[in-house]
This record gives sequence, C-alpha cells and structure tokens, in this order.
Amino acid sequence: MSGITLALSKGRIFDETLPLLAAAGITPSESPETSRKLIIGTNRPDVRLIIVRATDVPTYVQHGAADLGIAGKDVLIEHGGEGLYQPVDLHIAKCRMMVATPLGFDYEAAVRRGARLRVATKYVQTARLHFARKGVHVDLIKLYGSMELAPLVGLADVIVDLVSTGGTLKANNLVAVEEIMSISSRLVVNQAAMKLKHDAMQPIIEAFRGAVRP
Ligand code: ATP
Ligand code: MG
Repeated sequence: MSGITLALSKGRIFDETLPLLAAAGITPSESPETSRKLIIGTNRPDVRLIIVRATDVPTYVQHGAADLGIAGKDVLIEHGGEGLYQPVDLHIAKCRMMVATPLGFDYEAAVRRGARLRVATKYVQTARLHFARKGVHVDLIKLYGSMELAPLVGLADVIVDLVSTGGTLKANNLVAVEEIMSISSRLVVNQAAMKLKHDAMQPIIEAFRGAVRP
C-alpha cells in the first residue's frame, strides 16, 4: 500500500483525534461509531483509517499493517513499544494510573509491614514495575475489565486502574491511594514506514504536533 494507513480506536480516542486529523487536512468519510466498516476512507485518496481495539493499535503499527496509530501510554507500556517511534504526546484521553483500595483498607500500613498484596489489574507490566520499585511483594491477577469488582468479592486487596473523575471508584466504595503515572495518548509510527514513506508521513506528523493543546 503506497498510501498512509492510520490505526485508531473507537470512543474517546477517535473523538479527540478528529481535531488533530482536521489540522492535517484529513476528514473521515464516515464515523466508526455508526459504520460497521473497519477500514474507513477519508477526503484524501492517499489516507485511510483502520478501526481496531485500543490495545491492538501498537501491534498493527509494529507490524506495518498501519503506518501510524494513536495509543494510550498505558497501552504502550503493556505492549513494550518495539518497532515503534513515539514522536508526539498528543495530550488527549488524559487520565491517571492509580492504585485503589476498598474504603477502610490501610494501604500505607500494609506496605509498611511488608504485607504481600494481591493486585488485580489489566496493566500487569505497569503494576509489576511500580510495586518492584517500592519493594512491595505482590501477586498479580490479570483481568480484562471491571477491575473495581475484584476487591469487593475477595479476589484482590488492591487494584491498579485508570482513573479520570473517580466516579466508578466512588460508586463501588473504593478510593485511589497512590498515583503511578499520568496517562495521555501518543502518536506512534512504524519505524520502517518512517523511512520509506517519509515525505508523505512527515507533514501529517508535523500537523498533529502543531495541533496539540497541552
Ligand atoms: P474497551 O473499553 O473497548 O474495553 P479500552 O478500555 O482499552 O477498551 P477505551 O476505554 O476507549 O478502550 O480507552 C482507550 C484509552 O483511553 C486508554 O488506553 C487510555 O489511554 C485512555 N482512557 C481510558 N480510560 C480513560 C478515562 N476514564 N479518561 C480518559 N482517558 C481514558
Ligand atoms: Mg474502556
């Protein structure tokens, strides 16, 4: 494919990417929310979008099935980032990676006395690194969603999850006790495509960079 393929996920990343696309002169020809198409054309004959799960974006770009993509820092850490350049922090889909516990669980005390913690999370690499740096021993329990449930039914002591407003935590009697890192979405670029399609990609990358509103 001589044109440019950009991998995006539906939902907040797509919505927040539209202004960046507009800045690059790219208008999708339909909305992925209403269309069932997974390949979406644009006003530019040389640019198409593919719609994939948020966690799959780095994989498509790493293997060159997409030249560019937009993925959360959370997703990039779990993926590992091999084969990818990450030239621009887009400052979209912002949230925080947090440790959360049930109300009344004394996290600081558990850490101080060296307790072994059961941690439920979708983000096992991030959690592993965080607790290793703190010197806390953990049993990691991999989940694919609804982490908030785990401490409520005795599956885990704490969770590691993304928090924006804290509404979901509050509704489930959980409280955020520690920030691990702030999260935003990044532009990711296939390293080979960056060389082979440089002239077509560079203006898109620069337009995105110029449209970032931190
Ligand atoms: P799905 O919801 O389809 O299971 P997902 O949770 O991976 O998949 P999204 O919920 O669309 O997909 O999240 C995509 C990205 O948006 C995440 O990787 C993260 O970087 C960011 N994100 C997730 N939750 C929030 C939030 N509450 N506020 C802001 N950004 C968020
Ligand atoms: Mg989600």
